[in-house]
Amino acid sequence: MNGMSLNVIPCETNLKTDGKDKVGPCPVCKGPGSFVKNVTVRNMISDHLLESVGNFDYYLCMDDDCKISYYNNDFKIKFEKNDVKVPIWFKKDAKPKYACYCSKVTEEQIINAVISEKAANMKEVLEITGAMTNPNCQINNPLGKCCHHTIQEIIDKSLIK
Ligand SMILES: [Zn+2]
Repeated sequence: MNGMSLNVIPCETNLKTDGKDKVGPCPVCKGPGSFVKNVTVRNMISDHLLESVGNFDYYLCMDDDCKISYYNNDFKIKFEKNDVKVPIWFKKDAKPKYACYCSKVTEEQIINAVISEKAANMKEVLEITGAMTNPNCQINNPLGKCCHHTIQEIIDKSLIK
């Protein structure tokens, strides 16, 4: 394997930037949030809380220590991470830490593919782990975005070790 281009096509959620990323402070920690569409939040919030989600979009608190997940300051509504059906991977104590939510592949599996199975790049990691098969990140990933970048970051970190 050399540096040839990979046959990995990130799903389309990755390609859209609407300029709304990383704005709007979290009502609790005052840290930055990341814009998340209503359709994503609807799929993430526990069923018994669905009625309070409304039709508007949200931000996701990006602070690993903060217990808040989605919030909308205009409507004065916030949810905690425990109100979400899946663990949010970057929050403290997330278990398991999913790297790819669509295929349920964990950070640990990606690290193992690199360290133990000597995967040298994204393509090999995806072959070993099965990550990013059937991507539907808009409804499966808490950020509503493709996990491509997250996986690449884990690979990069693992290769340095
Ligand atoms: Zn917060």
